[in-house]
Amino acid sequence: MYAFESSNGISILDVGWNTDVALEALENGLSSIGADLRSIESIVVTHIHPDHYGLAGRVREISGAKVALHHRDAVLTKSRYLDPSDLLLEMRSFLLDAGAPKDQVDELQTASLPALDRKSFVEPDIELEHDEIAPVPGRLLRVIWTPGHSPGHICLYEERFKRLFSGDHILPRITANISYHPQSGDNPLRDYLESLERVKAYEIEQVEPAHEYRFKGVSMRIKEIQQHHMERLAEVKTILKSPLPKTAWEIAEELTWSRPFASYQPFMKRMAVGEAISHLRYLVNSNEVMISDGNPITYSTSKL
Ligand SMILES: [Zn+2]
Ligand SMILES: [Zn+2]
Repeated sequence: MYAFESSNGISILDVGWNTDVALEALENGLSSIGADLRSIESIVVTHIHPDHYGLAGRVREISGAKVALHHRDAVLTKSRYLDPSDLLLEMRSFLLDAGAPKDQVDELQTASLPALDRKSFVEPDIELEHDEIAPVPGRLLRVIWTPGHSPGHICLYEERFKRLFSGDHILPRITANISYHPQSGDNPLRDYLESLERVKAYEIEQVEPAHEYRFKGVSMRIKEIQQHHMERLAEVKTILKSPLPKTAWEIAEELTWSRPFASYQPFMKRMAVGEAISHLRYLVNSNEVMISDGNPITYSTSKL
């Protein structure tokens, strides 16, 4: 997360997990610059995920700060954080469609519940739009809408210093998870690749990401990420060369991950399957792969 000072107080970009440890780390960070939680006047969040948005409610309660999120993520906050019962049902049918083993569906379905704390839920006060100036007093930070990692993901661009606050959109070493899931939109990988192109229009000297470390050379990094997804698409097509159609789960089991798929915890498995499906849907959309409705849904190489 980042803190911006103005004459009236502090604005922060992203706010961390909803845990006591994260709140304490924020307090310590602020005190190192002579501020405290009450000096926060604005909380801008790059996207809805709990490692970025989770603590927004508690910090707003303490500080009275306004919370800002892009409107495409703002509309998802209630069903994700306040009453996830519908979302859990959608997740269940999503997993069955994907071909998840029946004996794993229960734990896969509820794998993200530990990250939720309904008591401190907050709806954003401000809904952001592409190209507007973010509510960070004293700074000119332009909102760039970069859907893909989440439907309402934003980056902030500070023209004066040619600096991009990239959230999870562009990270220096790892690639952001691009998953298809009940709240992702139809073709998140296409959205993501378009969002990478969108960022190229800005002159950027330094990237300030939400994970890992700040770095220079954004165009090279964008090329690497594009290359990664092209290789992934090719790998999916190779896996589908077998004569029998396959489920997304079977394809995810065959794809190369940083560790063996079977060794992943339920939440990581869900992210891996979502990532496989985002690539499959991209290929279905470009008529390179055929999808057949059924339970589970299967994929095969297009005969076209
Ligand atoms: Zn994220
Ligand atoms: Zn993140």
